[in-house]
Amino acid sequence: MLILSSSATFIHFVRIYRAPKSVVAAIALAVLSLCFSTSTHACEFKNVHFKTNFEAGKIDQCKQLSENQFELLSKPENRPINPSPWYAFKVVNKSTENQQISIIIKGEKAKPRYLPKMSIDGKQWQALPFDIIDNAIHINVQLQQQDFYIAGQEVIDNAFYAQWSQTLAKESGFKLQALGMSTEGRGIDALVHSTPENKEWLLIVGRQHPPEITGALALISFVQELATQQQLNTDFLSRFNVMIIPNLNPDGVANGNWRHNTKGADLNRDWGKFTQVETQQVQAWLNKTLVEQQRLVFALDFHSTQQDIFYTMPSDYAVAAPTFSEDWLKQLKEATVSSFTVRPSPGTSPGRGVFKQFLADEYNIHSITYEMGDNTNRELITHVAQTAAQTLMRKMLSVEPEQFIYKPSPSDLD
Ligand SMILES: [Zn+2]
Repeated sequence: MLILSSSATFIHFVRIYRAPKSVVAAIALAVLSLCFSTSTHACEFKNVHFKTNFEAGKIDQCKQLSENQFELLSKPENRPINPSPWYAFKVVNKSTENQQISIIIKGEKAKPRYLPKMSIDGKQWQALPFDIIDNAIHINVQLQQQDFYIAGQEVIDNAFYAQWSQTLAKESGFKLQALGMSTEGRGIDALVHSTPENKEWLLIVGRQHPPEITGALALISFVQELATQQQLNTDFLSRFNVMIIPNLNPDGVANGNWRHNTKGADLNRDWGKFTQVETQQVQAWLNKTLVEQQRLVFALDFHSTQQDIFYTMPSDYAVAAPTFSEDWLKQLKEATVSSFTVRPSPGTSPGRGVFKQFLADEYNIHSITYEMGDNTNRELITHVAQTAAQTLMRKMLSVEPEQFIYKPSPSDLD
């Protein structure tokens, strides 16, 4: 049952997840068997087993330092890489006695980025007390007879997206569409809302970078708001077509990658180059869809970083409508709670293969890299995402179709 209320995204996540379908179970089982590697055996000790045989599970090496102290190491998929050491593992008490252990979590040649959280069921998570000593996370945990997970953020895996997308498609006018397959054979899916009369497209992508969970949470709330059957949505969807690719890097998600896809490529440095199957599938969709009168008018790309920030194209860049992003973010600022800071950051990154830069150069449109802080309050992420969806729909409806079409000024033609 898809919850489209105004309650927290995290609650949506939990509730949706608690209604698994057999297909999801089948996917989970298949992935479970795929992911079981020899490295998990290396993490089995006399009294405790650290398991990573689940989607997004990630620990590469384990060491017993003393009777009750263990050191766990996460290594990046390849280098060079942005230092975002992801970790996710299940702690299994092999003793019939309860025991207290201390766990040291290290990222290879990287400072910790993600603060430890624990979960019994993999759905409801809570923060764990920790210390940082010499760039390693130190935690003490009590092992009882029930297994539990420890991870850097809430785990949002491919099975979640499959379930969530199916439910959303069933309960809204959005259609679930297979875009293609990843390198390791996982489906890359899209949620599409379109009618032949509509010519203007909004494009939304997410999860280019696997561990960026707060961006994923924002996308989930944003999209649910777009799909809610209210007057605003009805008006919006009767003028605009929408293409959503919530999880562009399913291999990276399954493998617990720090940033890249399974080929070791940063997808958000591949736009325009299109050397990777994931970006190639979006390129193929763009080329197939944007024909005749069909055109892209705006795009959003959801990520996470140290702080909440909205990377925009400058208003004087060759994009239409010129001040669209600036104006929308002002409206978002007015509509969100005062404890949230809407921080716009206009800029360009020519030739670097970044999504928003590619769209600006190729289609002369605004797009925004929507970044949520790693530690931003989850209720706030939901509030901001829902408000962002509402204000964006209003803003886009207020712009005349021809204002979205870029017209070079005479000086640009010199
Ligand atoms: Zn990112």
